[in-house]
Amino acid sequence: MFGLKADWSLEVFERYFTIGDYAGGEARWCPGCGDHGVLTAAQRVLRDEQQKPERSVCVSGIGCSSRMPHYLGTYGFHGLHGRALPLACGIKSRRPDLDVWVATGDGDCFSIGTAHWIHALRYNMDMTLMVFDNAIYGLTKAQTSPTSPIGFKTNTHPFGAIIDPLNPLTVTLGVTNVSFVAQVVDWNPPLLYETLKAAYRHRGTGFVRIIQRCPVYAEQVSKALQGDPSGFLLLEHAQGIPIDPSAQRQFPQRLEHDPSDLARAFRLAADPALIPVGLIYHNPDAPCYEDLSSQGTDMTPQERLERFDGVLDRLTV
Ligand code: SF4
Repeated sequence: MFGLKADWSLEVFERYFTIGDYAGGEARWCPGCGDHGVLTAAQRVLRDEQQKPERSVCVSGIGCSSRMPHYLGTYGFHGLHGRALPLACGIKSRRPDLDVWVATGDGDCFSIGTAHWIHALRYNMDMTLMVFDNAIYGLTKAQTSPTSPIGFKTNTHPFGAIIDPLNPLTVTLGVTNVSFVAQVVDWNPPLLYETLKAAYRHRGTGFVRIIQRCPVYAEQVSKALQGDPSGFLLLEHAQGIPIDPSAQRQFPQRLEHDPSDLARAFRLAADPALIPVGLIYHNPDAPCYEDLSSQGTDMTPQERLERFDGVLDRLTV
């Protein structure tokens, strides 16, 4: 197989992987569910990066979106509720050579998995963290989630959710050592693809909140968002997510935003009047836990012994 390099010369690949190489089982999400588009975008990123399927692993917790490891033709680990991130961190610790994708939802990540969410962001291990946020527990048929809008009727709040939803962006931006924060909707495939690609290429935890349609249990939420493009603010910048004309048409309100500006990222994330889409914050220099914790692991047995003796010598009385 051949490919064209940037200088138009031919590059010979060991083997060219197609989208079919990243296909797992047939997706059983409901028709019209936003999860289908996220799966396709992730497969396209893997194909375009020519990542070997056997070098990638998709880790999830519990929920509709957490079925993703079954549908992606890579290694997968369908874990326990809220535990996708500790599993992903464990995999990255022992196999830093693997490409780790995390698929989690608003209930999985922002409720039962909250502690893991916070600490995984601080550890900043190199992985792509996709949070499928449909503002509802879909798999268990419509309970209020941490991001359900106030007044939204669910099985647990038949008269409507009674407190304001959690803001995942301000929480994420408040964590020490956070390095990549983006937000996107599932119904703009080019922007979704570019955002996942940027998160994938980022070295560190690429946090992407995907506002995702659940036409079965939260149709009103996504219809309200889709019907009012003036509620979104498309973030543009040379260091941000590449924007194609479809995104410019879909989101007429645009703002030049430097993603290295954390204070402004906070203000944008906290603004209740507008939903930012694009790259909100990026710090490519934030340290990754696996780099720090692996220091010294390449020592020879003799070097380890000498270091150990040195520590014991310090304790001699
Ligand atoms: Fe998607 Fe909602 Fe169906 Fe779950 S219940 S698969 S989130 S449409």
